[in-house]
Amino acid sequence: MNKVFIAPRRYVQGPQALEQAGALLGALGKRVLVLWDAQVKGVTGATLLASMREAGLEVVDVAFAGDSTKAEAARVAGLARECRADVVMGVGGGKTLDTAKAAAAAAGVKTVTCPTVASNDSPTSSYTVWYDERGNCLGFESWGVNPDLVLVDTAVIARAPVRSFVAGMGDALATWLEAEACFKARGPNLAGGVATQAALALARLCYDILLEHGVDAKRAVERQLVTPAVEKVVEANVLLSGLGFESGGCATAHMVANCLPSFPECHGLMHGHEVGFGLVTQLCLDDDLPVERRNRIVDFEIAVGLPVTFADIGLAGVGRDRLARIGEICAGPGSLCENHPFPVTAGDIVNALLAADALGAARKEALGV
Ligand SMILES: [Zn+2]
Repeated sequence: MNKVFIAPRRYVQGPQALEQAGALLGALGKRVLVLWDAQVKGVTGATLLASMREAGLEVVDVAFAGDSTKAEAARVAGLARECRADVVMGVGGGKTLDTAKAAAAAAGVKTVTCPTVASNDSPTSSYTVWYDERGNCLGFESWGVNPDLVLVDTAVIARAPVRSFVAGMGDALATWLEAEACFKARGPNLAGGVATQAALALARLCYDILLEHGVDAKRAVERQLVTPAVEKVVEANVLLSGLGFESGGCATAHMVANCLPSFPECHGLMHGHEVGFGLVTQLCLDDDLPVERRNRIVDFEIAVGLPVTFADIGLAGVGRDRLARIGEICAGPGSLCENHPFPVTAGDIVNALLAADALGAARKEALGV
């Protein structure tokens, strides 16, 4: 299998990055369809629209219906064709960005993502996660191309809820451990090949930045401050996590995370929280992991407020019977759990889930939390 590495064409990050939107978008086209919801428009609209007007761009303002459904993407693609947009730009969270990517691909125009939260690794990727009208996840689809521009304003992100910033750290923290597992197993990445040395190095950098600066960055975001630590962690959460998962590959942390929404108790969690607990599960599955390294990862999750026990994800007291279904899916065909250098059975997964809960509780006790 070939080694494949993919990435967006341009990534721009800074505390006033939105002010450059006009100049950056002008290089891509003249007419821009902007997809956002009312709340996001309230936060970013004045700066973005002024910058685009100043650059002489035409703006088509479209309100996002709220979920990344195929119907919504088709509606936005229709509007993009109707108004002959050159660019579709999604401004907001993962669902807005994913819908913008799908609509741009369907209309055959350029794509820009402008995340207003650093909660997940969607902005740089070629993927859309699809949902149905009831909010159930239907899986994901690649458009074969990554965004032409990813525009990240760190002042906007520092004013977003801290919880979303922490979720982004959960999604990003798993990146290296999953890419490393995948590489050892010679498993496929999500770019249509196997990992390059570059993808592994970026995934490792993502991990190192979080362990060194994650706690400082969270404290700053609690005060809505943009500090050097916040800049570094936003880069880890958005750029490095995105490049690392797509060109590095995923494993058990994401597989368990993708199964958790089947429990109604977990519906309040963000993707990154689910990955945070999925990572503790992966750590309990791997017999080739030094105890100090494993504990350091769990202690970091506790320090920033990521979930490490069943109680933390709303599943206090859950038994083997309810976990068995996750075990079966994880051990089933096409599972990301195949991306480990050892076979994974349904029983292994159930044991690892229960061991993760016990490990999380033990580390909390050791830390006096
Ligand atoms: Zn993820």
